[in-house]
Amino acid sequence: MNANAEGQALVRIADLHKSYGPAIKVLRGLDIEMKPGERVVVIGPSGGGKSTLLRVVMGLEEIQGGSVSFAGRPYISVQGGKTQIDTEVRKKIGMVFQHYTLFPHLSVMQNLTLAPCKVNGESRAKATERGRAILARFGLEAKTDAYPSQLSGGQKQRVAIARALMLDPQLMLFDEVTSALDPELVAEVEAVILQLAAQGMPMMMVTHDMWFARNVASRVIFCAGGVVVEDGPPEQVLGNPREDRTREFIERVFHIKG
Ligand code: ADP
Ligand code: MG
Repeated sequence: MNANAEGQALVRIADLHKSYGPAIKVLRGLDIEMKPGERVVVIGPSGGGKSTLLRVVMGLEEIQGGSVSFAGRPYISVQGGKTQIDTEVRKKIGMVFQHYTLFPHLSVMQNLTLAPCKVNGESRAKATERGRAILARFGLEAKTDAYPSQLSGGQKQRVAIARALMLDPQLMLFDEVTSALDPELVAEVEAVILQLAAQGMPMMMVTHDMWFARNVASRVIFCAGGVVVEDGPPEQVLGNPREDRTREFIERVFHIKG
């Protein structure tokens, strides 16, 4: 069977259960199906499990039940109470976090080439050439030899995105990548993500910027209480939600409750 046949999900999250210890049940039977080329924005209350969800999809967390599949292949599952993670599939996914994660003792180019050279055995010359091309695309050529401490927050996040792209991901996860930035630096990072979106990169992201969500999303998913409450096009979920819980959240976020 062709794993990418039309209608086939790129990511299928099925009945996902995730707890931190016995007391903190974060995800309680969550289902999401993401088609190829989709850009899914996940919104929901703080502490509702959005970061946990992305970390699970990235293969960074143990889960207690359910599964996650990529292009028809289950790569995260639970067998005999133990979480099984297929690292070959996980390699196809890139993630950028809210807090800066560049290696502080490495230059921008060294940050970009470390994993391709060390993990994938790519030659330094080849990786450097690809790194230069990505930095140029993001307007960061002048920062090739800079160290993270010499970069603005916006530049750091753009480098973090460039670093993730060096591994040729087939899916990108962005967890509030602009939340720690000064307001005037948000646009340059969002522009890079919009550029990736325009090139067809599938992505799943969490953002509090509703303007950006509306611009980038092909689908918006409102999660609360560890399950999907509403899932639909941005015009519906952000503009005219069907569920009361979504409407209350949107009204609070936009401060429009009368
Ligand atoms: P969101 O990103 O939606 O704000 P999170 O996924 O960060 O929510 O957190 C969901 C819940 O899980 C919160 O109650 C949080 O305190 C808890 N949590 C997150 N990470 C951990 C952890 N490593 N250990 C224990 N509890 C955690
Ligand atoms: Mg979070």
